[in-house]
Amino acid sequence: MNLKIENLSVSLNNGNEVLKDIRIEIKEGEWIGLVGETGSGKTTFLRAILRILPEKMFFKDGRILFNGKDLLKIKEEEIRRIRGKEICLIIQEPHLYFNPSIKIYRQIEEYALFHGMEKKDLKERIYNSLRLSGFEEPENWIKMFPFQLSSGMLQRIGIGMALLHEPKFIFADEPTSSLDRAHEKQIIDLLGNLKSKRDMGFIFVTHMIDLLKDVTEKMAVVYKGNLLEIGKTYEIFQNPFHPYTSLLIGKSSFQKFSAPLKKNLNSCPFYYFCSFRISRCLEIPPYFEKYGRVVRCWIYE
Ligand code: SF4
Repeated sequence: MNLKIENLSVSLNNGNEVLKDIRIEIKEGEWIGLVGETGSGKTTFLRAILRILPEKMFFKDGRILFNGKDLLKIKEEEIRRIRGKEICLIIQEPHLYFNPSIKIYRQIEEYALFHGMEKKDLKERIYNSLRLSGFEEPENWIKMFPFQLSSGMLQRIGIGMALLHEPKFIFADEPTSSLDRAHEKQIIDLLGNLKSKRDMGFIFVTHMIDLLKDVTEKMAVVYKGNLLEIGKTYEIFQNPFHPYTSLLIGKSSFQKFSAPLKKNLNSCPFYYFCSFRISRCLEIPPYFEKYGRVVRCWIYE
């Protein structure tokens, strides 16, 4: 099972593009981080794959191939079957998974049955998934109401629910951003553990680049709806190629150059902040492949 995104562009109704010519492949079992500042298009990217874009956005171009099948071409009922079963989404605010007035177990059970699981052995399967997500005695926790548990615990239950169907891919959209440092560490450790136990792909979206170090083997850097660099996580941390990646990692400092009166929409998206810019950069760079890395910067032509 793999996911291949080809030339994906998503626009707002007013014509502004929020994702621009995204090209990336995520292979079976691969754990990839997607990093960029707030508003860079990371969440839109996940939502586009699941076809749950907000009403004001539309697909302008591209293909999303899930094991060769274009998710943009299949019927709504088929994508609904894939969502929550073959591709699961872990969201930022775990309390939104749950109705606060219904006990945890009933809600997990309903979710499982809704996605076509059989009632037979369901309890044991739920317990097993929750054990994988770090609950040693799940039977004690599922009797509770959501408001009795911390956000970190609810997030772990959310991860357990995602694991229930043994999905091919899990997408985690800033899974730690609403948690305190202690719970953040628990979730990162948990994800690190799952990686060795499960043969599934994973996309971890975050604006905190350091979180990717212990979780993903590959990472992609997004800026203003553009993918700027894709490569092995440890290699990028050691030696970022793109000037924006270098800034994110802290290997260079932020500068802003004076913008011309008329903004050039076809220039490199990082043009106004880049100290390496040359006249060529007034044209958006294509994807260059260099030393096992994909990078969109004219320096690597
Ligand atoms: S393409 Fe040019 S402006 Fe853009 S990051 Fe590379 S050097 Fe800088």
